[in-house]
Amino acid sequence: MIKLIVLDVDGTLTDKARKISLNAIENIRKVISNDILVSLVSGNVIPVMFGLKTYIGINGPVFGENGGIMLNNSEITHFFSKNLPKQFLNEISRTTSAREMFTNQWRETSVAFTMDEEDREAVSKKAVEKGLYIVDSKFAWHIMNRGQNKAFAVEYLKKLYDIDNSNILVIGDSDNDLSMFELNVHRASPSNASSSIRNLSEYVSEYPYGNEIGDIFEHYHLL
Ligand code: CA
Repeated sequence: MIKLIVLDVDGTLTDKARKISLNAIENIRKVISNDILVSLVSGNVIPVMFGLKTYIGINGPVFGENGGIMLNNSEITHFFSKNLPKQFLNEISRTTSAREMFTNQWRETSVAFTMDEEDREAVSKKAVEKGLYIVDSKFAWHIMNRGQNKAFAVEYLKKLYDIDNSNILVIGDSDNDLSMFELNVHRASPSNASSSIRNLSEYVSEYPYGNEIGDIFEHYHLL
């Protein structure tokens, strides 16, 4: 029985232009009214997650920065620091095409940036040497601390609510969701998901960009 649903936002509840699916919102509200706990875990910043939680009516905690920071009952918890990611971004901004994103002013545990594809390998290697890693959310590159990922958030929720893997459903579409798709929980994805996410999914919907939410909830008998 599913007791907790962990949702990615961009590309899972939204289209490529980040417009949120109204259909997804309606279906999320339906499962919440059925007393299922819903949590959002995104690469986005915590003020945006606060807005989504408030205006959609999300009943569980929300995580920003791929699990680095959580908002629960008006309380913010930082699980990581942005010191090392910030230092690393300063360094690569001098030597590569990496450029920071304006949303970094609201980031507290990581940093986001853009870069040319040709720099990806070198930057990725350098990050690991510094005890960090970079991940592509398809909407930005993120410099994260080691251990800072969406699986960390899922494990945290599991302990917080004292529930088993079999009670958890995760839905996501891209590589920053991989860590939670490697957990032994229920895993589903939209048709626009990356091939690695599709391969790790128990169920891949034929619908994309938020329109898969109702279909997935029906598949798991949650509506
Ligand atoms: Ca996504």
